[in-house]
Amino acid sequence: MMIGPRFDNSYTRLPARFYARLEVKPVAAPTLICINDKLAEELGIDVDFLRSPAGLNMLSGCAMPPGAEPLAQVYAGHQFGRFVPQLGDGRAMLLGEVVDRRGARRDLQLKGSGRTPFSRGGDGRAALGPVLREYLVAEAMTALGIPTTRALAIVTTGENVLRESVLPGAILTRVATSHIRVGTFQYFADRGDTEAVQLLADHVIDRHYPDIRHEPGPYRALIGAVAECQATLIARWLAVGFIHGVMNTDNISVGGETLDYGPCAFLDTFDPTAVFNSIDRSGRYAYCNQPSIGLWNMARFAETLLPLLAARERDQEVIAREEICRYSSRFDAEFRAAFHAKLGLGEALDGDANLVQSLLSLMADSQADFSLVFSGLAGSVFGPDADEPVRTLFNDPLAFDGWAAIWRRRLSAEARPLNVIQESMRQVNPAFIPRNHHVEAAIKAAVEQNDYGLFDTLCRALSMPYEDRPTFTAYGNAPAAHERICATFCGT
Ligand code: AMP
Ligand code: MG
Repeated sequence: MMIGPRFDNSYTRLPARFYARLEVKPVAAPTLICINDKLAEELGIDVDFLRSPAGLNMLSGCAMPPGAEPLAQVYAGHQFGRFVPQLGDGRAMLLGEVVDRRGARRDLQLKGSGRTPFSRGGDGRAALGPVLREYLVAEAMTALGIPTTRALAIVTTGENVLRESVLPGAILTRVATSHIRVGTFQYFADRGDTEAVQLLADHVIDRHYPDIRHEPGPYRALIGAVAECQATLIARWLAVGFIHGVMNTDNISVGGETLDYGPCAFLDTFDPTAVFNSIDRSGRYAYCNQPSIGLWNMARFAETLLPLLAARERDQEVIAREEICRYSSRFDAEFRAAFHAKLGLGEALDGDANLVQSLLSLMADSQADFSLVFSGLAGSVFGPDADEPVRTLFNDPLAFDGWAAIWRRRLSAEARPLNVIQESMRQVNPAFIPRNHHVEAAIKAAVEQNDYGLFDTLCRALSMPYEDRPTFTAYGNAPAAHERICATFCGT
């Protein structure tokens, strides 16, 4: 007999005020679109089960296998800087947790499975387009080596959802080390429920940061640990040109995974002020603002833990500030390491930071393609003869020539031979990122023609982003002027 996931649900062991239990509700015509076999394997979930009628029932929220305890988590959050005291899973259902093959606890959650007590005015549903988008981008991020929630499966519901137009409904099965957000802490802190904040903090320490459990000040250590994970994550986003698009505190995972792929996008031409989220009119979540927003979000997180840090208010603040400082030092180190590696630089020397910054400003001035410049530079390590493909990416190729001469002089100070440097650059500069125009084309074919050919091919290209495989060359290309996507939309 096929056996479903072996659930072990720790969140339900928290008090009832942390969530609302949900009843399952059948959808009209559940149809399996895809299953992530490799992820299922990693989770120790039988793929044959997922493909069986019982599996489809689970993935569509129609009926649950033994051990699942469906619930919606409650949280709050700062949305575009404004505090909303109650949000919560308005269109998601946590099925439960499994312990994966490496012993890590992972949430299984349906997104788009219907209304919950936290739906407010929403329909609880998701449209197929944003679900496909989240699947593609989350799995691409994984292949890029960036911490992220994962995508296990997609089903369509056979029901329409009403957005600007009528769209096919779908459900994504999302996998996360947890779905606990900065906003989950804010929900309880805002109510003055210090007992709940402490229980949640203990849960998060056990689950995400077990090493700090026995430190003399575990809650202050938690602030530092979460801040450092967040700083690392955001530095890695910048290194691949990723713009999250909606870094509200309810979308910030305390486990340090990229969470919520609504209006995200990758840079084509390098513009540090780029914003794709169509509702982000002030550019709060622009590419270049992400590091400072990350810090702001960590300050909001630290605030929730203040009462647990010390008896006196003055001491609480001093401790919180000290811990938050770890964000900035970790971010600087990770940013430096990532961009130095992108340029083939090993140990940091004086002037390296300038070399990075001067290239980025040339790219911005010259509207050069972010990924193509970095992936192309590997070809230029031996000398200017091979510079042509990169220099033509700049509106002002002469400016690039000047920079490249200084860069190659700097490379000659490296102890490693040039061919080793070249290989190291190829391992950190992706040939394939989920470019917006390819993602949109794949979604369009699937949604409008029920044709998943492009979606499948794009998934395959993005599964090995650092290998420039000729079959997929087209997916590495920058968009032509008419293909450029300027705005993405929240998946709601
Ligand atoms: P998001 O912008 O996707 O991070 O969502 C922000 C909040 O709105 C969360 O509490 C979501 O659960 C809720 N939400 C988003 N879309 C819907 C929907 N279609 N129905 C109900 N709630 C939703
Ligand atoms: Mg969200």
